[in-house]
Amino acid sequence: MENHYEYEEEYRNTIATVDESGKRIWVYPKKPKGKYHNKRIIVTVILLSLLFSGPFITIDGQPLLLLNIFERKFIIFGQAFWPQDFFLLAVLLVTFFVFVILFTVAFGRVWCGWACPQTLFLEMVFRKIEYLIEGDANKQRKLNQAPWNSTKIFKKGSKQLIFLLISLLISHTVMAYLIGVDQVIEIVSQPPLENLSGFLGLLAFTGIFYWVFAFFREQACVAVCPYGRLQSVLLVKESIVVMYDWIRGEPRDKIKKKAEQTSEAGDCIDCKLCVHACPTGIDIRNGTQLECVNCTACMDACDEVMHKVDRPEGLIRYSSHTAIETGQTKLFNARVAGYAVILVALIGFLLFMLISRSDVDINALKVPGTLYEKLAGDTISNLYNIQLINKTFDPKELRLSVLNFEHASIEQVGSSQILLNSNEKFSGTFFIKIPKADLASTKSKIDIGVYADDELISDFKVSFLGPVVLKK
Ligand code: SF4
Ligand code: SF4
Repeated sequence: MENHYEYEEEYRNTIATVDESGKRIWVYPKKPKGKYHNKRIIVTVILLSLLFSGPFITIDGQPLLLLNIFERKFIIFGQAFWPQDFFLLAVLLVTFFVFVILFTVAFGRVWCGWACPQTLFLEMVFRKIEYLIEGDANKQRKLNQAPWNSTKIFKKGSKQLIFLLISLLISHTVMAYLIGVDQVIEIVSQPPLENLSGFLGLLAFTGIFYWVFAFFREQACVAVCPYGRLQSVLLVKESIVVMYDWIRGEPRDKIKKKAEQTSEAGDCIDCKLCVHACPTGIDIRNGTQLECVNCTACMDACDEVMHKVDRPEGLIRYSSHTAIETGQTKLFNARVAGYAVILVALIGFLLFMLISRSDVDINALKVPGTLYEKLAGDTISNLYNIQLINKTFDPKELRLSVLNFEHASIEQVGSSQILLNSNEKFSGTFFIKIPKADLASTKSKIDIGVYADDELISDFKVSFLGPVVLKK
């Protein structure tokens, strides 16, 4: 997005958290406070409560969400998705991405500021502990520069210990979403060597979370997060993001006595409190930047300043480039319309796939190289291979029956029983036998029903070959 005023664009050539020699500049954001921050605290409490309670919530005895990539087993809202459902999962993923894109085009990075676990944990948990133990930005800076004495050792030590404990809690929760809460309880209740891979997994996750929240911090959003990098292609001039009202604020001028104040001075008094409050170290007055996670800290900081100098709030606010320029918010634009149409189509397709999804995955084909066989009593028989997969959590006893030929019969080769446990596969061979008199052509479509406990749960079609039928 272009710069709004005459200040140089040079800030775009550097990252606020890296100096000219490439060394990290540690950010000491001022402790946030204000109405937006209070709202974010409420949202954080709700979202983190959901996150930590999620692994314990079950639907019909199954977890609300399980993403077991190791066993390729996924449970979403109590519904199981197995490897055979990957197409469905892929559609679900694409739908989710289109939803995120649409949401971003319309509302910018609301997700980053209000719901992203990285921001929630860093700004609302880890930094809060830091403020509590080390004090506000200036005190933290001083403590870091101070020589190591007992106070510094105590403060730094206790902070890192709490960080580590919270990282442990997060890693156990993440593992519970990956392998299930029972498995995690099993790992922690056994000696490490009994379940070494699980134990090492927990250790690795703890280490990663601790490193990210204690040291890497805003760099995850600024330099790593792919969603953050996508902002430059997703945002449009109508997107609602955290914006500095340059028309109202410029030319910025230090606050002076009334007599010295120039009449053309804007509302920004260049106090830089918005910059000091920013956890990614940027100056939002330069315009929309990739580093901005829309955390609203600068909005609160500036509102407080505006109060003090008796000017209206909202010099930095949720707005769009167009809205600031023209005074009109235009949420609906061509891009939003385009993405909305795609999203509706995808949701429709996904719903259709979910509704028509059966409990059993069926794959039946004629045995290669076979035609038909004439049996005694003028009966024709065809031979088929079949594969059945039970996609539910419960064991199922299945039975096959021809639906569209009254005198047809199915004979399974070997055992007549098809008993399948959850996600178990059955491979077998079966004959379909039909009286010749019932066949109207050399190739008939046979509709076969799959029954579980005498309930028809699915059906499939196969081709049945027979001799030439002489017309009378
Ligand atoms: S906090 Fe507000 S007044 Fe102060 S520098 Fe930032 S935009 Fe200007
Ligand atoms: S510019 Fe404002 S909203 Fe953006 S990250 Fe910095 S403080 Fe948060």
